[in-house]
Amino acid sequence: MASIALKSFVGLRQTTSENKSIVLSKPTTQTRRNFRINASKSSPRVTGRNLRVAVVGGGPAGGAAAETLAKGGVETFLFERKLDNCKPCGGAIPLCMVGEFDLPLDIIDRRVTKMKMISPSNVAVDIGRTLKPHEYIGMVRREVLDAYLRDRATTAGATVINGLFLKMDLPKSTGSPYVLHYSDYDSKTGGAGEKKTVEVDAVIGADGANSRVAKNINAGEYEYAIAFQERIKISDDKMKYYEDLAEMYVGDDVSPDFYGWVFPKCDHVAVGTGTVTHKGDIKKLQTATRLRARDKIEGGKIIRVEAHPIPEHPRPRRVLDRVALVGDAAGYVTKCSGEGIYFAAKSGRMCAEAIVEGSENGKRMVDESDLRKYLEKWDKTYWPTYKVLDVLQKVFYRSNPAREAFVEMCADEYVQKMTFDSYLYKKVVPGNPLDDLKLAVNTIGSLVRANALRREMEKLSV
Ligand SMILES: Cc1cc2nc3c(=O)[nH]c(=O)nc-3n(C[C@H](O)[C@H](O)[C@H](O)COP(=O)(O)OP(=O)(O)OC[C@H]3O[C@@H](n4cnc5c(N)ncnc54)[C@H](O)[C@@H]3O)c2cc1C
Repeated sequence: MASIALKSFVGLRQTTSENKSIVLSKPTTQTRRNFRINASKSSPRVTGRNLRVAVVGGGPAGGAAAETLAKGGVETFLFERKLDNCKPCGGAIPLCMVGEFDLPLDIIDRRVTKMKMISPSNVAVDIGRTLKPHEYIGMVRREVLDAYLRDRATTAGATVINGLFLKMDLPKSTGSPYVLHYSDYDSKTGGAGEKKTVEVDAVIGADGANSRVAKNINAGEYEYAIAFQERIKISDDKMKYYEDLAEMYVGDDVSPDFYGWVFPKCDHVAVGTGTVTHKGDIKKLQTATRLRARDKIEGGKIIRVEAHPIPEHPRPRRVLDRVALVGDAAGYVTKCSGEGIYFAAKSGRMCAEAIVEGSENGKRMVDESDLRKYLEKWDKTYWPTYKVLDVLQKVFYRSNPAREAFVEMCADEYVQKMTFDSYLYKKVVPGNPLDDLKLAVNTIGSLVRANALRREMEKLSV
């Protein structure tokens, strides 16, 4: 949830990370002109049945994708290896997700309206002051949210298969099916399940950071952070403090490149941290996070320990032929904040919409150009958000003095408003030019002070 208040960074240009269409250069005597080949929308009709799509992975990306496909007339199979899966996750979701995905309020454990940002020297800044009465950050348990979205996909007509996707055979010719191999746990043939196959026309890989679908299409690797989290049951008295409050700790002790957190759940807190650069030190960083929060979680009992990779950037390839990756499988977690639930659900839905549209509600075969429409829309909508958070991480998470400056900036009401508006609504909100100028001057002031402080600290350590 770190700030994307620095709107001045939003002028950055988007790179073309993937080959979007074939471009032929045709030289003439005077000029060179580019001719784009776009697939004509005369793909063959699917006869005797509707388009068949497999969604691999039943997290927020898969659940949202399967619901949209089924509602759009596509015959949908959703594969999930563990139906009571409790994905290691802080479970913080923005307000816009509640509205856009029509989430019932009873699946939200806590409505956080106060956020404390705590600096390396333990200066705490409250950053929820500008929230309006109806605004909050939702805190969910993933086992609850994921099951809810999967159930909704079932109601819409998707077939949920409790199975482990193993691999797929790619089509041998245009229009021929993908053959998915999986272990079916529904057939109750012992722990290993029964080996089965299914033939489909297209595949959405929503199987998270260790995606097998991504491997199957040689999508390439991404850099990742390792995130570690402990669920800690604290006394009711101590829980009162966290009733509507979350904490973020920054400092070299808790993470050299990320932040530590205490997020409230229904009857416990989730305490965690993450790092890309010092993965081997993750337990040491976790101990430091717990130490920083010790007064507030004292006497607590650790009830669950979990760890999982968090992607740092999109994979080199996200679409190939009739296969598309979404959510963590594609690499859609924002830097700096480590937020991925909303982006997973959004990308799942966006990809499914492109398939529904391209197939004319399941009546026609789709091809790569249909799936690329999802990529184009995605990159256009979210690329600036990712870039801003990337830059913020580089500027403010690089040293303890820079983090002190960051926390100092967070005390500014204008920064808070921009930060929360951007986080809650996933839009970089237009600001007030005078306040923008003040913010720019303050930012420079904070950074200059941080640099001076860093130089002093370096002298001391010589
Ligand atoms: C410790 C931690 C804290 C985090 N905190 C937050 C936070 O507070 N807020 C936030 O927005 N994001 C947070 N994130 C990131 C967030 O958890 C992910 O971005 C999000 O879960 C991505 O959703 P997804 O549906 O793409 O993948 P996942 O949630 O990983 O879901 C993938 C699903 O696929 C299933 N699956 C995998 N392989 C197979 C297979 N072969 N066959 C069948 N099924 C398979 C899995 O069981 C799983 O259910 C955090 C991450 C970590 C690790």
